[in-house]
Order: sequence, then C-alpha cells, then structure tokens
Amino acid sequence: MKGKLSKKKIDQLRKRLARKPQLVWDALGPADKKKVFGFAEKYKGFLDSAKTEREAVRHIEAFAKKKGFKDITKAKGGKKFYKINRNKSIALAVLGKSPLVSGVNLIASHIDAPRLDLKQNPLYEETDLVFLKTHYYGGIKKYQWLARPLAIHGKVLKKDGSHLDLHVGESDKDPVFTISDLLPHLARKAQAEKKVSEAFKGEKLNVLIGSLPMGDDETEERFKLAMLDYLFTTYGLVEEDLVSSEIEIVPAGKARDVGWDQALIGAYGQDDRVCAHAALEAVGEIKAPQTTALALFIDKEEIGSDGSTGAKSRFLEDFTADLLEITGEEAGGKALRSCLMSSRALSADVNCALDPDYQEVHEKRNAARIGYGVCITKFTGSGGKFGSSDANAEYLAQIRKLFNKSRVVWQTGELGKIDEGGGGTIAKFMAVYGMEVLDCGTPLLSMHSPFEIASKADIYMTYKGYRAFFNSK
Ligand code: MN
Ligand code: MN
Repeated sequence: MKGKLSKKKIDQLRKRLARKPQLVWDALGPADKKKVFGFAEKYKGFLDSAKTEREAVRHIEAFAKKKGFKDITKAKGGKKFYKINRNKSIALAVLGKSPLVSGVNLIASHIDAPRLDLKQNPLYEETDLVFLKTHYYGGIKKYQWLARPLAIHGKVLKKDGSHLDLHVGESDKDPVFTISDLLPHLARKAQAEKKVSEAFKGEKLNVLIGSLPMGDDETEERFKLAMLDYLFTTYGLVEEDLVSSEIEIVPAGKARDVGWDQALIGAYGQDDRVCAHAALEAVGEIKAPQTTALALFIDKEEIGSDGSTGAKSRFLEDFTADLLEITGEEAGGKALRSCLMSSRALSADVNCALDPDYQEVHEKRNAARIGYGVCITKFTGSGGKFGSSDANAEYLAQIRKLFNKSRVVWQTGELGKIDEGGGGTIAKFMAVYGMEVLDCGTPLLSMHSPFEIASKADIYMTYKGYRAFFNSK
C-alpha cells in the first residue's frame, strides 16, 4: 500500500497507468476541425455517386485514373495500377520500394450494401396497381423499407446485346418508388400482435411502380401492359430482358448532415462505403511507400463473401500475381504465396457504436462509441468467437504503436455483448493466406438501416489511420 497521495499525484498516476478513451473533438485544433468537415463533404459525394457496387467500381476507377493509376491488364510499366473484376470489385496498388515477396500493406473493404434485389420475373399487376417482386440482399430489418421513397439502380442486358444502366429516383425531377405498409387501424392481427420477425414478410416487399391502364376494361392485365409499353418506349426493354438484369432497390435521396451542429452524417450504405472511401482517399495520396500499398474493394460481403466478385474468390491472388509479373519479380506460386503470407491487412469494415437507447445489447467497457475515433476490433464471430479470425496480439501491438505515433485517435470495439448476436467480416478470408489481419473501421449507429449514422470525427480518423498504415513499413 502506498501512503496518502496528493490529488495531483493520483491524477499523474492515473494518466500514466490507465487508458482513457479520447474524444476526437478534444484532440482536434481549429485547423484539424476544418479538415474533418472538409473530408466529410468529399465522403458525402462518394455516398451519392456510389450506391451500388457497380457504381462504386465506376467511381473508384474514375478516381484512380485521375490519380494516375493504370489498368494493369494494359499497362507496360509504372508504379500505380488497378484491376477490375466483373465490374463489381476493384483493386488499386501503389508499388513500394521493398520487393513484393516481402508482402504488401492491404486495406480490404466492401462496396456492396444491404438492399432489395429484383427477382428475375418481377413485374406483375394486382388490384389495378403495378409492382416489382424483390428478394432482400443482406441483413435488413424488413419494416425499415416500408412506406419510404425508394430508387432503382441497376444494369439490364438486353436481347440485342446492348446494355442499359438504370438510375431512377435520385434527381428531384425523377419519380420515386415505394413499398406500401398497412394502416395501424387494421394492423392489429396482421402485424402488431406478432413477433417482429414474423410480422413482416419478404414476399410482401413488393415495390409499387405504376397505376395507369391502357386499352379498356376488356383488356387483359392492362396495367402491367401499360408499364411494359412505358419500359419499351423509354428504354427499349422487353419483359424477358429483366431475366438478365441486376436491379437494386435502394433508399432514395442524398447523404445528409445530421444534427444542428452538423457533426454527424446520415446516409444509406455507410457500411461499408465509409471505410471504402477512406481507403480510396488514402491510397490515392500515397507517393512512394516502402511497402506496396494495396486497396481492395470487394463485393458480396453482405451475403457471406461467396461468388466470383466476393472475398472468397481469387481476385486478390490474381491481382497480386499481375503485380509480381509487371515488376519482373518471380511470378510463380511460391513468390505469390510468400507475398500474401508476409502481408499485413486491415479488414476495413464498420463496427456498431454503443446505441444510447439499447445499451443493454452492448458491454459498455468494450463497445465502440460515436466520436472516439477509428475502431479496432480484435475479433468478431458469435457463440465464443466462432467464425472469427481473431487477430494476433503481436499485430495489434504494431497497429496500436503506429496509430499512437501518427496521432490517430482510436478505440476498440466488439459486435455486441457476449451471446447477444454477432457477425463477421472479410477478415477471415484474408487470413486464409496466412497474412496478419485486423478489423479496423468506423463505428456506426443504425447499422444496416436505410439511414446509417457516422461521426465526421470518426470518419476522418479512419482515413488518417489508413493513411498511416499505407505509409508504414
Ligand atoms: Mn460491413
Ligand atoms: Mn454489413
């Protein structure tokens, strides 16, 4: 036992020994605050132009070209390259001074988001109204998609071989679409007395798209026919074209500042565009790193990372092999394995922030908080870390040291308290290669909702953290 210490001594002791999470706003000077708000404007622009994975790839490619990255499938030499996989995932790299076989610094984020996809035979009429059938993609709370303006984004491959990009519901001049909900007066048995998981059915997520008839009351399916006529006249589409389409229903509208002080951003798709954008800005700035910087933007995370554009595909290997080839390093299997095995990755994905109204689902001492910086998550999973890649302490030590040195305000987080639920990220699919990997991203409120919330301070610290990572050895 120590003797009686003065208050000053006790404060010094605490400062030296205990970790106190730091609020980003307290760490920022006036010039930094300006940067935080400036960065948020760029980010909102990204959110508005990249609501789907295809749109994100287009945006990222345009950004890459502007920053001097070359398509690696066409390039002869250089230092900055990109590659696109089926228009739904993309990777950017800036070659480092060290040989590739000694590993890359990888930041892997995802550019798909929960939404409603059209089924392949979506169009029908019911009670003189025209609808589209949907199948939800990723983890949604179905009721959040009812009675709100929706937009249609997607791609249709037509019979004649041409293709069409649809983008309707975002401009003020555009119409929007919606899914109707039951009035409260009649919802008692159909909804109110049921469990939420049973009250809202996937097969009732039908999008209202029209109500004008053609012909007269002898005409069969005159509302659907009128819609088909509209689609043909406007876009040259016939019904069968929808079989070869990927059309996504997303919340209509732009990203917005939230709160009188405008310190938060509310928008659809911030999981994981907030990390994707931070990684993009960071890789766009890298000049001549010691270690090769690689930013991977992947599709299909929200449905388990399967599919040829998801994290379980071999796109990362393929791009890394291209890099080995273009640098003249040995491009064989051994070199590729060594490179990936020696790499360090940040799995750039969001985590949940402590929800002020549902604090009971979190364990407060380990939950991420809005405004406390970029969030490091050692493990995800559920039922005893099941399905998590669980980062190595040695690697956590490196990242912690790096962030402290680079004045990145960071915090730790977890996905809810033990056995409350859980989830995963693409970290484990990067870990397959034997590389170090740690989840690191922005905390969100209302995650997976049509209007997710993030703090501008945390968004900026995410970018600052990623930039420091790319600049590290
Ligand atoms: Mn995510
Ligand atoms: Mn998600």
